Amino acid sequence: DSVFNENRLRDLIRAVPDWPEPGVMFRDISTLLLSPSGMQMVHEHFAERYQDKGLTHIGALDARGFLLGAPLANTLGLPLVIFRKPGKLPADTIREEYTLEYGTAALEVHTDALNEGDKVVLIDDLIATGGTLLAATKLIRRLNASVVEAAAIIDLPALGGSSKLDNEGIKSFTLTSY
Ligand code: AMP
Repeated sequence: DSVFNENRLRDLIRAVPDWPEPGVMFRDISTLLLSPSGMQMVHEHFAERYQDKGLTHIGALDARGFLLGAPLANTLGLPLVIFRKPGKLPADTIREEYTLEYGTAALEVHTDALNEGDKVVLIDDLIATGGTLLAATKLIRRLNASVVEAAAIIDLPALGGSSKLDNEGIKSFTLTSY
């Protein structure tokens, strides 16, 4: 078992200034993905937190959330629900539109992916404005299910996402912040 070490995690996250546009400091987790032991440390931290929370599903956000959500669902023995960018899911879907730190976007989920009363932990790489996780939460609530917590590796508190989520009744859990 690996002990969680925030400084080690931060060493594995690359900062790319002015990407994808001027003024944005992009926090790149592709460098973390290159480290099996770093990924193992992150995975174990999430798995330990969510093992006894009475969850029914892990909900993963397109696309970097998939990289965290799939192994977590596997370890916890839970079904994985994917929240995708528009036009990717083939069966009956519902959609929520939202605003990003840069640009606008939308998310879709299959209507048969969740049932009334289901309890979901959402996972993504980073919380910026919180728009993405809030859109996923709205989709979950429209299906009469609930969000137990929104998890991410990184919080950018200055962008207000985690407090916006808090105001909407969604607790968030992150491993580090910038
Ligand atoms: P938001 O919906 O504003 O919370 O944005 C979160 C989503 O956008 C996440 O899926 C991130 O992958 C991505 N994102 C937004 N801002 C950044 C940033 N500064 N660095 C890396 N990813 C970001």
